[in-house]
Amino acid sequence: MMKATAEQRHEVLVLGAGYAGLATAIQLAARTRRRGNLRVTLVNPYDTFTERLRLHMTATGRRTPVLNIPDLLDGTGAAFVRGWVTAVDTAARTVRIDDDQVLRYDTLVYGLGSIADTDAVPGADDHAYTLNGPEDAALLADRLARLDGGTVVVGGNGLTGIEAAAEIAERHPGLRVVLVGRQEPGASMHPKAKAYLDAALARLGVQVRSGVEVAEVLPDGVELADGSGIRADAVLWTSGTRVPPLAAAAGLTVDERGRVVTDGALRSVSHPEVYAVGDAAAIRQGYGVMHGTCQGGMPSGVHAALSILRVLAGKEPKPFRFGYYHTPVSLGRKDAVVQFTHPDDSPRRIVLTGGRAAKYKETVSAAPWPTFARMKRMPASGALWPHGGRYTRIRSAK
Ligand SMILES: Cc1cc2nc3c(=O)[nH]c(=O)nc-3n(C[C@H](O)[C@H](O)[C@H](O)COP(=O)(O)OP(=O)(O)OC[C@H]3O[C@@H](n4cnc5c(N)ncnc54)[C@H](O)[C@@H]3O)c2cc1C
Repeated sequence: MMKATAEQRHEVLVLGAGYAGLATAIQLAARTRRRGNLRVTLVNPYDTFTERLRLHMTATGRRTPVLNIPDLLDGTGAAFVRGWVTAVDTAARTVRIDDDQVLRYDTLVYGLGSIADTDAVPGADDHAYTLNGPEDAALLADRLARLDGGTVVVGGNGLTGIEAAAEIAERHPGLRVVLVGRQEPGASMHPKAKAYLDAALARLGVQVRSGVEVAEVLPDGVELADGSGIRADAVLWTSGTRVPPLAAAAGLTVDERGRVVTDGALRSVSHPEVYAVGDAAAIRQGYGVMHGTCQGGMPSGVHAALSILRVLAGKEPKPFRFGYYHTPVSLGRKDAVVQFTHPDDSPRRIVLTGGRAAKYKETVSAAPWPTFARMKRMPASGALWPHGGRYTRIRSAK
């Protein structure tokens, strides 16, 4: 890529103002605000930041802070465009917004995140509630508030399903909450953490049905693969993830789940002027391809910004290295379990539980926004992230 000059403004378009895309936009804008030769534009459907980490709280009617994206960008020189991306044209280097606006780019950052995979099971798209966005979570909150007794099935007993089931059971003790999924909840945790999790779910009255496969979501419940069913007044679908199909449709190389395959610097392997970050990217590390988390998404966003700046300066970008360090799981508002992990996400023996874990989880959930605000004044260095320098040393763990 050519070095940008003052006469020739380099347009960086960041798609998606989630944890990863916002990190890229703030980082880039903060580092280049005094230069006239680079402009950052951030595109997102809402002008408020969606704290996905708290959507299970929204789903039980709890208020969460309103975080205004244009206010955060104020003073950085970055522009904000509110709208839905409907297509990316990699040949013309343009992006279509809401089908009536076209934005040009020199460098594109693809950070459109992921949603629950409601395509995986017939009927889920039509009949299940999701935690895909604030409006989806608010719909569930409204339904739950109107129920006077009854059953809620939470499909998928991964971490999102566990957090949602616990939150609903605590907030609506009159409802029967059934958590269904293939594996045992917390199956990948250390036995100490798993035992705590099981006891907490039992205390909250959550009925756990593991080893079951949902065959279909119906208007009034779920049908299981063994032919039996669970009647429900509401079904929440949290299982699996799927990413927007825009990258594949644009001809970018994607993996089997539609995520953009990146090189070490987080550039698309097929289109090096496109960077991919967060859940929408397939980022390979020594231990395998990263799975979607906020803890990995934000560093990937920061790293993409640093890579873009190095490439524009005619330098070789550095490889992105990330190691996981924790899995914090809320169990209602006063309880939680935090599983500390090795960099490859395998569990360590260290586990935090109870009130201290709940405070830890709240600190984690609240941290991104002040981190963005701080980045605006003081851009982050990639080396500041946990496991910096240690992440390449992957232990076999357990
Ligand atoms: C209930 C819940 C609890 C979680 N808890 C944790 C946790 O404790 N720790 C953790 O690390 N992770 C957690 N996660 C996962 C974490 O939220 C995701 O991994 C993280 O949000 C990924 O960040 P991202 O920036 O890639 O995507 P997102 O945060 O999803 O952001 C993507 C952005 O792109 C926008 N977008 C999507 N499509 C379009 C389009 N076509 N046009 C324009 N904009 C678009 C979206 O509106 C959104 O603003 C949790 C998730 C949920 C649902």
